[in-house]
Amino acid sequence: MTKRVGVIGGGQLAWMMAEAATKLDIELVIQTPKPDDPAVSIAAHTIVAPVNDATATAQLAAHCEVITFENEFIDLEALTQLENQGVPFYPRLASIAPLLDKYYQRAYLQNLGLPTPKFIALDDHPNPNTLDPFGFPVVVKARRLSYDGHGTTIVNTPAELPSSLTPHPSFFLLEEFIPFDRELAVMAARSRSGEVITYPVVETQQKNQVCHRVIVTNDLSASVVKQVETIARTLLHHLDFVGIMGIEFFLTRDGNVLVNETAPRTHNSGHYSLDACMTSQFEQQLRAVCQLPLGDSGLTCAGAVMVNLLGFENVESDYLKKRQQLTQIPRSHVYWYGKSESRIGRKLGHLTILLETGQRQEAIDMAEQVETIWYGTGNRE
Ligand code: ADP
Repeated sequence: MTKRVGVIGGGQLAWMMAEAATKLDIELVIQTPKPDDPAVSIAAHTIVAPVNDATATAQLAAHCEVITFENEFIDLEALTQLENQGVPFYPRLASIAPLLDKYYQRAYLQNLGLPTPKFIALDDHPNPNTLDPFGFPVVVKARRLSYDGHGTTIVNTPAELPSSLTPHPSFFLLEEFIPFDRELAVMAARSRSGEVITYPVVETQQKNQVCHRVIVTNDLSASVVKQVETIARTLLHHLDFVGIMGIEFFLTRDGNVLVNETAPRTHNSGHYSLDACMTSQFEQQLRAVCQLPLGDSGLTCAGAVMVNLLGFENVESDYLKKRQQLTQIPRSHVYWYGKSESRIGRKLGHLTILLETGQRQEAIDMAEQVETIWYGTGNRE
């Protein structure tokens, strides 16, 4: 019998659930603020309302058997009342509660003994000008509602610090700058019965704090892969997490892994799984929350590279010509999220190219080819 899954958030992450939903005979009911958000076109029904509108979520609940998330900028307290009345959220709200504020998330990870950068909250330090706990550079992060690098500032000198703490220091956490060798990420899913499945450990490449590329090759050492997988399993187990989670890491120059942050849902670093894995991250999320057996997360190819197609100008355009060029790259899969308005840095689409050799250099060469088409030579920001 067709099952109905409610999804809080109707951006590209919900839009990309469509294929898996059809395969699993699931209808998606979406709560999203705008009628032209990407996932509205694939939804069986849409509740047009902000993601933090719990009254709208009560309506959503009336249309579906289970609710999951593509966006965690929710009103946790109000949703908890619904959960107490019997609305089934997966992941459960208690599993995501420790993750919504970056300071509490770091503290939770630290309490579990998981490695993170050193950090402090600024509430107890009314005069940030006197702060120099880690030396400079230092990283200032908005504790809540930040994404795609909005809310993260690398501060190089004490003089720059006060202006980065506007409107109020208590909105931010301060952490040591990690001179990482690489950034890594992993997707991990956990079923209601406690089975955990991890995806391949990937490298992510950021510019100005925004993810540009995800590289899926087999050049990471067994020790690094083991550290990542152990952290993922420990975290999902302790949260009693049901669903899928993205976890981002710093790999230090001496081969140690530190957790940067977690996302209790599908994630940009897992988009490659749509084309390169036996089971995509979107199918895995639906499987986990609908009590279906988890799928095989293994690769179907030697490796892959995913390149985000980010806005580089403020215009209305569907970039059809550039997209056609990208489609012609062998073994490429282009996804266009259907956003009518381009803004600088906005995620408009992505493409994944399946690799022939699975070598890191092949991935980098392919990404450069894509970025030259997309941004034009010498215009890569
Ligand atoms: P967001 O939640 O907006 O993605 P992140 O906390 O992941 O923000 O930071 C975005 C990027 O900023 C990271 O991918 C990394 O490149 C850089 N960054 C964040 N924290 C640190 C840190 N402590 N040391 C060095 N670079 C960092």
